[in-house]
Amino acid sequence: MTTHVPVIIDGESLSDGQREALDVLSPATGQRVARCEVATPHDVDRAVAVANRLSADLERLGPRRRGEMLARVATALMTNIERIAHDLAAEQGKPLGEARGEVEIAAVMWHEAGEVIRHLTDELLPSDEPDREVRVVRRPHGVLAVITPWNFPATIPTEYLAAGLAAGNAIVWKPSELTPMTAAHLMACIDEAGFPGGSVNLLPGPGATVGTALSGHTEINAVGFTGSPATGHAVAAAAAGKPCLLELGGNNATVVLEDVDVATAAAQLRDACFANAGQICSSTERIIVKRELRDELADALVSVARELRLGASLEEGTTLGPLNNRPTLAKVERHLADAEAGGAKVLTGGRRRDGMPTDLYFEPTVVTGLRPDMVAFQEETFGPVAFLTVCDDDKEAVRLVNEHDLGLIAGVMTADAERGRRLGSQLKAGIVNVGAPATVWQPHTPFGGFSGRRSGVGRIGGRYTIEALSQLQTFVTPRPEYASRS
Ligand code: NDP
Repeated sequence: MTTHVPVIIDGESLSDGQREALDVLSPATGQRVARCEVATPHDVDRAVAVANRLSADLERLGPRRRGEMLARVATALMTNIERIAHDLAAEQGKPLGEARGEVEIAAVMWHEAGEVIRHLTDELLPSDEPDREVRVVRRPHGVLAVITPWNFPATIPTEYLAAGLAAGNAIVWKPSELTPMTAAHLMACIDEAGFPGGSVNLLPGPGATVGTALSGHTEINAVGFTGSPATGHAVAAAAAGKPCLLELGGNNATVVLEDVDVATAAAQLRDACFANAGQICSSTERIIVKRELRDELADALVSVARELRLGASLEEGTTLGPLNNRPTLAKVERHLADAEAGGAKVLTGGRRRDGMPTDLYFEPTVVTGLRPDMVAFQEETFGPVAFLTVCDDDKEAVRLVNEHDLGLIAGVMTADAERGRRLGSQLKAGIVNVGAPATVWQPHTPFGGFSGRRSGVGRIGGRYTIEALSQLQTFVTPRPEYASRS
């Protein structure tokens, strides 16, 4: 059965045959799983106008009522988890178990946003004028444009939608054209939770048209964007002068020191490199390993990689799904070809698997000999590849980790917590995990790019997203009770 994903404005599904529609093909089967309407420039204007009209009402609802509705979105997600996970896996390509896990995390995030906003208080500051009070109030931006990618179609939009609604914004959302079914499910859960129609407006369609029109729209007040650095920089330029929360790419490194238990490290790195077929902005893209441990760790990684079962997302027992799309596949192959041409060695994988329903099935791959002059060292690969680079001491490890410009997250795997903290404090990454690889992130904690690099602006995660998607207004007012006492 093919799902139809409409444009949704003001709570109304617009499937009137007036718009172009795109086929959504499953990366696992190659078959059409959905047809998705493409929003027009007129839709963009209308959705922004609706959001503008509604934003004052959403603010007036108050944080406690919004918090209750956010909790109800979480409940709706969990009630419908099997259906949502099925469609998410079908259109994104990840194994069904990972898709279920993603929906569960999304539900936790909606719940968490509700809790945070229900307890966030205004602030009274000491005043230099005793008869005047200084109160700092957190207010929404107003209308928020949200643009999201395909790799986590439930959790990444949730970061912006849950926090944006919590803060009292009205939202116009452009999901990835590759994963619109999950977007439609999220919209249904928001509706079921009782948010007024038009609180979130859904504009599916390509970034080049819908995304551009939205990010440059004069009537939006702020932008939340997750995607590649190149697009993020274009969005920031289009929205120049407005608050932007930009979560961009990662080229994350995990340092493995000589004192680790190799089997444990390899098991942790399996998830860090291969979960979601490596299509995670916080994946371990580069493993910086002490020279004496290189061969042992490489062998252990080959073993764990070979244990993975590459298969269709909805097939029982699959632990590694296909890549989501051809440009990502082409990038993985380009990075591997460049590394091999420079002398790096593929120990396992390194190619598409034959005989699968589509050509997007890429074998889990382990490569040794990655050097800083190779493309995969400098750029995000976004595929199921564990690249190893050797280092001889902690100082060199720090230099190699920092020798790129996308500083999202880093890991230092060592049994010596003090040494790990010392080394970790020198890494230019928004998160440093000591005793664990890059990738692991607790969603209520701040996540984002290290300042001065190319991987973004601001922090997402729990209350930090709510803070980014709202503004502070300071009221300095007479204090009547003081006046009556004098
Ligand atoms: P893209 O930047 O290609 O796309 C992201 C979104 O932007 C999509 O909805 C896309 O639309 C849209 N878009 C494309 N062009 C424009 C434009 N000119 N103006 C406005 N919007 C546009 O990224 P990918 O989809 O390839 O996502 C993968 C990237 O996202 C990786 O670099 C990854 O690291 C990063 N990412 C970062 C995360 C973080 O938290 N830091 C988390 C997850 C991913 P469409 O594709 O529908 O045409």
